[in-house]
Amino acid sequence: SREWHLLSRPVGWPKPEDFALVEAEVPQPGEGQVLVRNVYVSVDPYMRGRMSAAKSYAAPYELNKPMQGGAVGEVVVSNAEGIEAGDHVLHFFGWREYAVVDAAQAVKVDADAAPLSTYLGVLGMTGLTAYAGLLRTAAFKEGDSVFVSGAAGAVGSQVGQIAKLKGASRVIGSAGSDEKVKLLLEEYGFDAAFNYKNGPVSRQLREAAPDGVDVYFDNVGGEHLEAAIGSLNRGGRVAVCGMISVYNDTEPSPGPRNLARLIQTRGRIEGFLVSDHYDLQPQFVQEVGPWVRSGELKYRETVVEGIENNLEAFFGVLRGDNIGKMIVKL
Ligand code: NDP
Repeated sequence: SREWHLLSRPVGWPKPEDFALVEAEVPQPGEGQVLVRNVYVSVDPYMRGRMSAAKSYAAPYELNKPMQGGAVGEVVVSNAEGIEAGDHVLHFFGWREYAVVDAAQAVKVDADAAPLSTYLGVLGMTGLTAYAGLLRTAAFKEGDSVFVSGAAGAVGSQVGQIAKLKGASRVIGSAGSDEKVKLLLEEYGFDAAFNYKNGPVSRQLREAAPDGVDVYFDNVGGEHLEAAIGSLNRGGRVAVCGMISVYNDTEPSPGPRNLARLIQTRGRIEGFLVSDHYDLQPQFVQEVGPWVRSGELKYRETVVEGIENNLEAFFGVLRGDNIGKMIVKL
């Protein structure tokens, strides 16, 4: 069984030498545990944070131990009540081919109800992030105009489409390539979109949202956040989901220079973590599940094959190689 270890804590952009694919014995499940053969493994931007030693909401990855992350797999051996060999489970021991999981940490998923990979994306953690951040943290309401960055990614593409389905007056997205911008406009139904690499975000946003924005869903931070504050309407809300533009910085970057705009707009900026919003999971599945099945809410996945490419897939997320959720298929 092969598994990815972190060998040294990356400084700046992670390098291949910071990691190793290690051969290990297939682990044996104890009482109350199951042995899972992973089928789909998630790579996510937050994993960059866990590679650092700094204290955060999730513990740093331990050096010379298998890394962790979301995964869906097939139960091969079960010593747990209620789970049988052949069942599929969602769990948190990705970055490896085989995992031993406590039954309490394994969530059964239905391979017939939806493609297994969607439990990591559109119907999983990133989907709930979009739903909770938009509806709860940003307190979206019908008629709002919504700007979302990272809009062709897993979270962002779902934010824009949920806003549209729930009656946003205008949805604007930014992404890092003209191909992604085209997708936002032609497939996801965004009203306006721009490539942030084609010019200053503030100017491109003003052109795309001449009447300003009521909600900004931030996946990126930096220049995007300042631009969004500059375009914020009275009573505007900013939900800070992620700031991927700074994850590899070695020094703190300057914050938005225009925070004083929050006074005249009575604006609000609030960060959130999906893990605090799992109470919304049933409502999320009930509302978003049918949209996905009917095709009203579209999603893409970028699937990379092979455990040996797990690390490259993670680098790809940081570089923007992905459209929609980045997933590794073993
Ligand atoms: P994505 O699928 O959006 O992949 C990341 C994308 O970020 C890339 O595809 C790339 O697209 C973009 N990107 C990379 N570098 C930059 C940059 N310097 N400036 C602008 N865009 C950049 O990932 P997720 O949907 O999984 O995550 C999106 C955000 O949500 C992340 O910030 C993540 O940390 C956060 N998150 C937060 C959670 C929470 O609980 N708060 C939970 C889950 C995710 P492009 O080509 O457009 O540059």
